[in-house]
Amino acid sequence: MRTLDSLGEVDGKRVLVRVDFNVPLQDGEVRDDARMRRAIPTLQELLDRGAKLLLVSHFGRPKDQEPEYSLAPVAERTSELLGVEVVLAPDLDDVPDADVVMLENIRFQPGETSNDPELAERLADLADYYVNDAFGTSHREHASTAGVVEFVEHSAVGLLFQSEVDMIRQLMSDPERPFLTIMGGAKVTEKIGVIDRFLDLADKILIGGAMTTPFLRALGHSTGDSLCEDEGIEHARKALERDDYPNGKLILPEDLVLAQEFSDDTEVRILNGVDVPDGWMQLDIGSRARTRYVAEVRDAETIFWNGPIGAYEHKSFAAGSLAIAQALAAHPGTTVVGGGDSGAAMRAFGLADSITHLSTGGGASLKLIEGSPLPGLEALSD
Ligand code: ADP
Ligand code: MG
Repeated sequence: MRTLDSLGEVDGKRVLVRVDFNVPLQDGEVRDDARMRRAIPTLQELLDRGAKLLLVSHFGRPKDQEPEYSLAPVAERTSELLGVEVVLAPDLDDVPDADVVMLENIRFQPGETSNDPELAERLADLADYYVNDAFGTSHREHASTAGVVEFVEHSAVGLLFQSEVDMIRQLMSDPERPFLTIMGGAKVTEKIGVIDRFLDLADKILIGGAMTTPFLRALGHSTGDSLCEDEGIEHARKALERDDYPNGKLILPEDLVLAQEFSDDTEVRILNGVDVPDGWMQLDIGSRARTRYVAEVRDAETIFWNGPIGAYEHKSFAAGSLAIAQALAAHPGTTVVGGGDSGAAMRAFGLADSITHLSTGGGASLKLIEGSPLPGLEALSD
């Protein structure tokens, strides 16, 4: 992985920095700039070293060049964060010679997502150096995240990208033990590769969220109307078998919180057990499971959490995720959270700054753990 230092002298040079500024807007303004602030150290270091910046990011999934997908509000916030003027360049043919330029939404260019070499070369021609700090997009093989590297002479990862990769690699190679992982969220099929790796590398794996349902089904329990991804059941069955459950590393909740709908003002039932009756859904872990899971967090030295362990968006089903989040925040060891919704939960609980590392790339960090290639990283590896 080539780092910023490897670029050497950048004074007076134009550096194209691929950032992931795909942030939520509200009323034409950036609503949450957490992701942007994480890339500021890279931009600041390059500016301090005398470089001129050309910032490139995608924003949403435009079909055409719809104005609501313009990066204009993002350019404005970047200017506030850096304390310098940021000029928005409408397209590649019209890039002004300012100190900091932001190119309009790169997905307005038809060749971006298809990784068209012509677009990659045009991007490369706009700068002397290329830096990728968009870890959250590094699992995509797009012109601005991967293709461009071939056409520039000097390229490197930014500080955020580097810290993300270093953290995951450290977790996977030499974690302080016991190493506990907590896997929740919705889709087992998406995350089974990660669970498989953790069956090798972690000491314990707590299961929560909708992810629990296929595991319960694989064990022969009834799950009522709980959200259940059917292809997940076979994956769960294999994982349980590989793990020699219940004598292995996997731990499932022993009680559940049930409701009939996803809502805050619906009747809630506590199930002392895991056989969900017809008409009901499991939407959170119960209090005994919560106590057990929090105790497991306390007993571990290194903890990785991906995926909310309940439908945390509703207060009635947030207790499990909140208890885990608080236990992580209070933990003195290494605490890492990856995943879009798990990160959002940490922020919603106001605990995002109390853990060791909050990943800006849910999909990318899972790919890295799983051992799948990240095109954006491969392009910048020696
Ligand atoms: P992440 O983005 O952190 O990887 P996922 O996208 O896999 O997480 O899953 C997040 C979603 O899972 C949330 O919208 C949450 O409401 C939902 N969820 C969690 N637990 C349950 C559950 N028991 N039943 C239904 N949905 C759930
Ligand atoms: Mg998600």
